[in-house]
Amino acid sequence: MSQRVLILDSSTIEKMKTFYQDDLATKLPQGALFAAKPHNCSITAYKSGKVLFQGANHEQEALIWAEFAKRQPQPNSRSKVVKEKTGGNSAHFSRMSLIGSDEVGTGDYFGPITVVATFVSKEDFAELTELGVKDSKGMKDDQISKIAKILIKKIPYSLLVLPNEKYNSLQAKGMNQGKMKAILHNQALLHLKKKLTTPYDGILIDQFVERGIYYRYIADQKDKVQEDNMFFQTKAESLHLSVAAASIIARYSFVKEMDKLSEQAGFEIPKGAGNHVDKAAAKLIEIHGVDALTKFCKVHFANTEKAKKLLKH
Ligand code: MG
Repeated sequence: MSQRVLILDSSTIEKMKTFYQDDLATKLPQGALFAAKPHNCSITAYKSGKVLFQGANHEQEALIWAEFAKRQPQPNSRSKVVKEKTGGNSAHFSRMSLIGSDEVGTGDYFGPITVVATFVSKEDFAELTELGVKDSKGMKDDQISKIAKILIKKIPYSLLVLPNEKYNSLQAKGMNQGKMKAILHNQALLHLKKKLTTPYDGILIDQFVERGIYYRYIADQKDKVQEDNMFFQTKAESLHLSVAAASIIARYSFVKEMDKLSEQAGFEIPKGAGNHVDKAAAKLIEIHGVDALTKFCKVHFANTEKAKKLLKH
C-alpha cells in the first residue's frame, strides 16, 4: 500500500487531532496518539512524532500537514500572547476595541450550533466587567441567561443558529464540522460589520482551527472577512471581553434552543454526548421514531448507534 511518513512536533499533532475530530477512530494501534479516517485516507500519529498517511488520498492529506509544519515558528522563537490579566482582557488586547466570535454546541449530540460575533469597545470594559462578563465556562445557565439578556440590549452582536436538519444535510454531503464553523463565523462577522457605526481595532476568533485552514474553509464563500488585524487564539474568551460576551450570548441561545427541543420531545433533552445522552436518544426514537433524530441531533455522532443498540436489548 502506498504511504507517506512525516515527523511532526506535538503541537502540530494536537492540531491534527482537532482538525480530524469528526473522523477519529476509536481503536488505536500500540503507541498511537490518535488515528483518523478522513475521506479515502487513514492517518495514524504516534507518540514518537511519526505520522503515517495511507490510502488513495494519502498524498493530499500529508501535503496539508507538511506545508503546515513548514509555516510553524521554532518553539524558542514562538511569540505567545502573554496572558497578564487586566479585567477580562489580556495585556495584549487590553486597549483594543475588538470584534470577537465564538460558538457553542459543537460537542453536544442534541441541539444546534450557535455562533455569535459581538463588538466590545474599550469604553465598555468597565461596565461589562461590572455586569459579570467573563469566561462563561463554569457559569450556571441562569447566570448566563441573566447576563445575556442585558448584553443583547447593550452591545452590537450577530447570532446564527445552524439547526440540526441543516447540519445533518451538510454533513451527509461531506462537509466537516470545522468547515461549517468557519462558514458560520464568517457570516456572523459579515453581519456584525454591517451593523457597526464605530471603527474597531481588530477581530478575535476563538480558535478552532489554525488560520490557514480557516481561510481555506471559507475560500469558496462569496463574501469573506479576511483582514490584517484578525487574531486566532484558543481560550480567547479569557483574552478579550468581546469573545467572552460572544460565548455568553451563544450559550444563552443554545440553552433556549434546547428548551424548544425539550418541549417538542416531551421530555428534557440533555447536553453533552455521554451515556445519559444515548439513553435520551433511545427514548426519542421510541416516542417519535428514528426519523426524528435528524431534527434533534447531530446524527453522525457515535451516540446514534449506541442509542439503537440500547433499543435492541
Ligand atoms: Mg470556542
